[in-house]
Amino acid sequence: MSSIRFGTSLLSTTRHHSVINYSRIVIRPTILTQASRLTSAAAFAPRYCSSSKDSSSPPPTSHKDSAWRKMADEKQMPHYLKQDHDRVFDHNRAWAAAQEQRDPGYFAKLSEGQTPDYLWIGCSDSRIPAEQIAGLAPGEAFVHRNIANLVPNNDLNVMAVLDYAVRHLHVKHIVVCGHYGCGGVKAAMTPKDLGILNPWLRNIRDVYRLHEEELDAIKDEEARYNRLVELNVVENCRNVVKMAAVQQSYAENTYPIVHGWVFDFHNGLLKDLNVDFESMLEKIQKIYNLTN
Ligand SMILES: [Zn+2]
Repeated sequence: MSSIRFGTSLLSTTRHHSVINYSRIVIRPTILTQASRLTSAAAFAPRYCSSSKDSSSPPPTSHKDSAWRKMADEKQMPHYLKQDHDRVFDHNRAWAAAQEQRDPGYFAKLSEGQTPDYLWIGCSDSRIPAEQIAGLAPGEAFVHRNIANLVPNNDLNVMAVLDYAVRHLHVKHIVVCGHYGCGGVKAAMTPKDLGILNPWLRNIRDVYRLHEEELDAIKDEEARYNRLVELNVVENCRNVVKMAAVQQSYAENTYPIVHGWVFDFHNGLLKDLNVDFESMLEKIQKIYNLTN
């Protein structure tokens, strides 16, 4: 899915810099030689890995790369955008070669199908790669990400993902993972017209309203904001539990279990909010019982 998101990003970039024609970019074969020298997939942690020997290449981290671009003359922008494009394909070729070398037949096995145990619903924030922080390999997690990890019942996208994951992939765990410092949650706390984001952020504003007394009692703004991040996760776990597919599967199979976690940028750790799934389900079913 990340490649799809990146593709979208490239398309968006292309619209703003129409001088680039990505379809004509040719990937140099030298990367295959580089790839064959590398034996571990761990060698391909996200970084700048273009095969270009151009001395004007940007520094190796994305943050520096971004700063570098801001300083660059606008005329150089097409050059850097092409490098952005190239590095993804360079990385991909090297990663594929290393994976196959480490585990011959890896891609043949991968192509046979998926049986992930986890459905991960996380924020779109670029700093939280679900599989990396959770140590999950390709095939282990079905992933859906949106702004502020929401599960609104009128969002066909997340509803379809959940339904498919439960009814067809038979996932055992559904994780709603938020993160402290979430821009979506912060925007929702800002009393301002944010255009098309208004209906989306209203879901978070509703969470605030539901827990207004508790949140207003927290005087420190950052602590209040962090607590809203946690409550937003819990309320979206509740939205998952309200679904017929989840209730019916749990009644029949005793899975999936729903978890609420929060990622902390300061230490890279996941915090388990210890959502009491069974108790939540029992209370929900007083009104939202959809098991028959
Ligand atoms: Zn976020």
